[in-house]
Amino acid sequence: MVYIGVDLGGTNIAVGLVDEEGKILHKDSVPTLLERGPEPVIKDMAHLSLKVIKDAGYTLDDVKAIGVGVPGLADKTGVVIFCTNLRWHMVPLREIMQSIIDKPVFIDNDATVAGLAESVAGVSKGVANSVFLTLGTGVGGGIVIDHKIYSGSHGVGSELGHMTVQCEGRRCTCGSIGCWEQYSSATALIRQGREAVEKNPDSLIVKMVNGDLDKIEARTVIDAARQGDKVACEVYDKYIYYLAIGIVAIINAFDPEVIALGGGVSKAGDFLLEPLRKKVAEYVFYKDLPYARIEIATLGNDAGIIGAAMLGK
Ligand SMILES: [Zn+2]
Repeated sequence: MVYIGVDLGGTNIAVGLVDEEGKILHKDSVPTLLERGPEPVIKDMAHLSLKVIKDAGYTLDDVKAIGVGVPGLADKTGVVIFCTNLRWHMVPLREIMQSIIDKPVFIDNDATVAGLAESVAGVSKGVANSVFLTLGTGVGGGIVIDHKIYSGSHGVGSELGHMTVQCEGRRCTCGSIGCWEQYSSATALIRQGREAVEKNPDSLIVKMVNGDLDKIEARTVIDAARQGDKVACEVYDKYIYYLAIGIVAIINAFDPEVIALGGGVSKAGDFLLEPLRKKVAEYVFYKDLPYARIEIATLGNDAGIIGAAMLGK
């Protein structure tokens, strides 16, 4: 049997046909065009699924199920509870999909499905317990326990980016205070870089963006730190510190075998891993026992399609 995986993003809908091993046989994408509202977007997801099946040379009979990864929360009945960035609230996604394709439809959070993908076909392959973290606009979490995703009793678990790491810290978009993603997302690294160079205009970061601070990206701060710029190094060290604090909390809670890092910041590779592993080693609780390997995720953007498809397996 084969599976359809749908990766719903704010910009594009990506759909792939995936085999039992988590290999993408064929994929395609269309613009999301969010402003139309949920129903036309979901219908496009269904029509693109049918096109991908046909273009790959398969029929609907070969497809066991459809999985959808959404940038938000979904419950077990197939309703998207909310997606902040899409401005969706209580959308009956499964029902609308099934009005076009009569197949089982499974929905989960995009970071959760990416974690599943990594555990089926990526860096955590063959490992029973792993945690995936995406360091992007926010910090997304995907928890895999005994080869299965864990989303909690009400589908709202695994929101690792909203663990409080600073009790009197920054206000988060979720309404809480001092959430991890306010310190460890790519957005946070950019903000911290910008704040630092406002006080230190001689930083290499400023030269790299020709004085236009709005052009600072996570990569700008990382590259300047790599070149030894003092201000960038301070910002990056602090970023690594907060990232390590959150990872140690995850190790203490779940004791996974692998923690896989994805998202924009993970492109720093060893320049991220080496200081992070050192920092985690300082704070980890069980110093005499082995603990989670921290690795870079390997599937990149395909993780969304693969993991969504594997929801149906
Ligand atoms: Zn939060």
